[in-house]
Amino acid sequence: MSLPTTEVKTEDLTAQTAKTKQLIVQKFGGSSVSDAEGIKRVARRVVDAQKAGNEVVVVVSAMGDTTDELLDLAAQVTDSAPAREMDMLLSAGERISMALLAMAINKFGASAQSFTGSQAGMITDGIHGKARIIDVDPHRIRTALDKGHVAIVAGFQGMTRSTREITTLGRGGSDTTAVALAAALEADVCEIYTDVDGIYTADPRVVSTATKIDRISSEEMLELAASGAKILHLRCVEYARRFGVPLHVRSSFSQNEGTWVLPSADDKITIQEGVALEQPIISGVAHDRSEAKVTVVGVPDIPGKAAAIFQVIAKAHSNIDMIVQNVSTHGTGRTDISFTLPIVEGADALTALRAAQPEIGFESIEYNENVGKLSLIGAGMRSHPGVSATFFKALSDAGININMISTSEIRISVVTHADLLDDAVRAIHKAFDLDGDAEATVYGGTGR
Ligand code: ADP
Ligand code: ASP
Ligand code: MG
Repeated sequence: MSLPTTEVKTEDLTAQTAKTKQLIVQKFGGSSVSDAEGIKRVARRVVDAQKAGNEVVVVVSAMGDTTDELLDLAAQVTDSAPAREMDMLLSAGERISMALLAMAINKFGASAQSFTGSQAGMITDGIHGKARIIDVDPHRIRTALDKGHVAIVAGFQGMTRSTREITTLGRGGSDTTAVALAAALEADVCEIYTDVDGIYTADPRVVSTATKIDRISSEEMLELAASGAKILHLRCVEYARRFGVPLHVRSSFSQNEGTWVLPSADDKITIQEGVALEQPIISGVAHDRSEAKVTVVGVPDIPGKAAAIFQVIAKAHSNIDMIVQNVSTHGTGRTDISFTLPIVEGADALTALRAAQPEIGFESIEYNENVGKLSLIGAGMRSHPGVSATFFKALSDAGININMISTSEIRISVVTHADLLDDAVRAIHKAFDLDGDAEATVYGGTGR
């Protein structure tokens, strides 16, 4: 597996983080607290960590698939839910698990207090559904710890400073809550507990022979997360890197050592200098089903039209990912521009584009949610001839047709039909010799 720029032994990390009294932030995802048994299991684990002499802050997600179920419910009520009310609804999921976990911990003989995101001092901007943390003031959490409590915080939510509106951070955002709290409290480590034993070379739900990675640099993890590997929320990895928070991703169902995501080399973890690197270049394969493909058909092929399209999209607060512009169809002076964006942002982007159609002068819009993106991540891809050849041969051998391609120094991505995505991931994983000897364990969750 590829390593960060200097070598760190996992035992060293464990030893360093095993000093007497630590402040640990533990985050438990939805599959870890999917039912009452799960909540009790997590509670025992938290109590053990506190009994071992640590100060423990716990961030919880909503139970199981609660967030999806709340979204489904809202969709049955209306197809145009106000974003503010959606955040009020979704933030309720985490409030349920935080209170139940506090009850379970109290039952097991330790004391715990739960806090909503706003009570925990998570201050965000006002963009409902994908709010960004702008400040963290965890004084109530600090006070709870000083009094000997375990502090439990609802993940994925915050509050605007002036209007005190409730916001949510976007799907998977509890990871970012945990890291932001760890940074603000200067925690020794942020443990992300989930339903697999760590970060693998591909999603173990798709590639059962994926290999567990013992340690990964935050740069590589950023790339995997940005490419859709939902094991960690992208912004949590960015935040951890910026503030030097060591992340340990591991299973809440086993005691196995997980994967360490290492912040920059000069931070809290002492890196052994001068250890020779023998690194294979490939880190892993990520896939993403959360994006849709938009094609703006018949765009006048003159300067300024692409800019106009992307200004419209930016105003609709959509995040564009891949972009492809075709050469203009011979003699027509018109071209097609395709791009991908998150499905959840599709409706707003389409509305904005349609409104701008007369002004921009394109002919029509095609919208397709039935696509998936596969990305191969690794250092120095461009300087290793043969990587692309192997990549495209593997897809062709597997009979996978490609819709879009983009490459960078550290990534090759393709968009395919959604139904072919899993086969494509397995083909690429195998072609780059990433398959391990053992079957990866998936302990729970529905993968939804
Ligand atoms: P949680 O509810 O704990 O936040 P998530 O479902 O958000 O859990 O993330 C864990 C899931 O991420 C795993 O069950 C796995 O299916 C998926 N996953 C995707 N890519 C990877 C990867 N490279 N390594 C491990 N898990 C991955
Ligand atoms: N409950 C939220 C979600 O399902 C946040 C999270 O789990 O991190 O996306
Ligand atoms: Mg998650």
